Amino acid sequence: MKLYNTLTRKIEEFIPLNPPSVTFYTCGPTVYDFTHIGHMRTYTNNDVLKRVLTYLGYKVNHVMNVTDVGHLTGDDDSGEDKMEKGAKKYGKTVWDVAKFYTEFFFKTTDALNIIRPNIVCNATEHVEEMIRLIEKLKQNGFVYETKGALYFNVKKFKNYGKLSGQKLEEKIQAVRTEVNVDEDKKHPADFALWFKRVGRFADHTMYWTSPWGEGFPGWHIECSAMSMKYLGDTIDIHSGGIDHVPIHHENEIAQSEAATGKPFVKYWFHNNFLTVDGQKMSKSLGNFYTIDDIEKNKIDPISLRLLFLQSHYRQPLNFTWQSARGSLEAFNRLKEIVLGLKGPNSSTRKLAKLSNKAIVFQQQFKAALENDLQTPQAVAVMWDMIKSDISNDEKYFLLLDFDKVFGLNLIDITEEKIDANIIILAERRLKARKKRDFDASDRLRIKIEKAGFKIEDKGDSYTIKKQLND
Ligand code: AMP
Ligand code: ZN
Repeated sequence: MKLYNTLTRKIEEFIPLNPPSVTFYTCGPTVYDFTHIGHMRTYTNNDVLKRVLTYLGYKVNHVMNVTDVGHLTGDDDSGEDKMEKGAKKYGKTVWDVAKFYTEFFFKTTDALNIIRPNIVCNATEHVEEMIRLIEKLKQNGFVYETKGALYFNVKKFKNYGKLSGQKLEEKIQAVRTEVNVDEDKKHPADFALWFKRVGRFADHTMYWTSPWGEGFPGWHIECSAMSMKYLGDTIDIHSGGIDHVPIHHENEIAQSEAATGKPFVKYWFHNNFLTVDGQKMSKSLGNFYTIDDIEKNKIDPISLRLLFLQSHYRQPLNFTWQSARGSLEAFNRLKEIVLGLKGPNSSTRKLAKLSNKAIVFQQQFKAALENDLQTPQAVAVMWDMIKSDISNDEKYFLLLDFDKVFGLNLIDITEEKIDANIIILAERRLKARKKRDFDASDRLRIKIEKAGFKIEDKGDSYTIKKQLND
């Protein structure tokens, strides 16, 4: 498989450290406010990468953190802790805020059929590991202490900036104009590993004791500590949105490699943004939609996957309601096709062998994904396959096969969503139609429709689908 690596700025052959195992760390949400569908573009693309690797036979061990402390509103160590800000905004404790928005996050990812990571780890439960890592960095000479914090000294780390390709001097220019909240900070790009519970943080409600007094960890250190704890010093893939490249991930690399002397990550996988009118969908701009907005607009959340799949993960994608409705229509069409192909009684249908033509579609599908996750091409292969003259059994088989990657839950549509009682009614209706007893057939149709399903005749068979509530 070929994958773009932000670190080398090249599309590279993906060779994990210990095949078939793949170690994969994803930067998780900061749980201080509602998760929106911009986040979901990134998490869906991570999910697709994971599904592709699994499809190709790799065994993926996936870890994701939940940031529930230490992420400040300013990336340059300025501002307040987002969690404390969320607590004030909603009049709750920080712990309640974290719990509520973590649940909202997973409600959203579940609605999009995103497979949960093997391990989900909270920053607040790993402060000890972070303290140990900071101590290691201190021993290795990368840390200095001020009245307010412990900082990582970026000048000591030879390759600082290698991920974003930014030179330290350029970085100084970039941050010089920002407010420097700690006058003892030596270099504007130095970043806090630990904040002391003094000064502007004297009232911080989340704090731990440490060798440097009471305080709380900076944001970046959590990902290094948890990635190393669960996946080892060097891992295969680390992912996040492109906004993480210049600061968060740069800092993760610096502190991890300064501590272990080993490479931190082999492949950096970054997702481009979901935008609205060309601007990043974000909490701070207020231009975001949550899963609740999606449902209010009668859009099945899972159909957003089709929307995301139809653009490449490294390109920006502009969200419009029109495009969301377009994906919903495509998704509904797909569901009808699957139901039509399956027929009412064929859950036991098995395919002995695929024809050469069907095999070519499968190969094209795989080739598209192996080429740096060209999901738009993979989706196009699916529609071409549906339109082709291969057998219905083969189409059905390939749709479910492709869906292992697309994650549209097509298997559930066929297996579970149609109630057994409805199938019984539909079968009785089919018999009535065959006997040309149209009165009985109409009565049964009304019954089926009252139960919330729509039945359509297809020659000697039929398709049933859930009625859309519009
Ligand atoms: P946060 O909770 O802000 O740390 O964001 C969680 C993840 O979502 C990060 O990897 C961000 O880069 C990503 N993200 C945030 N906004 C967007 C967006 N509009 N489009 C795509 N990814 C995003
Ligand atoms: Zn992170």
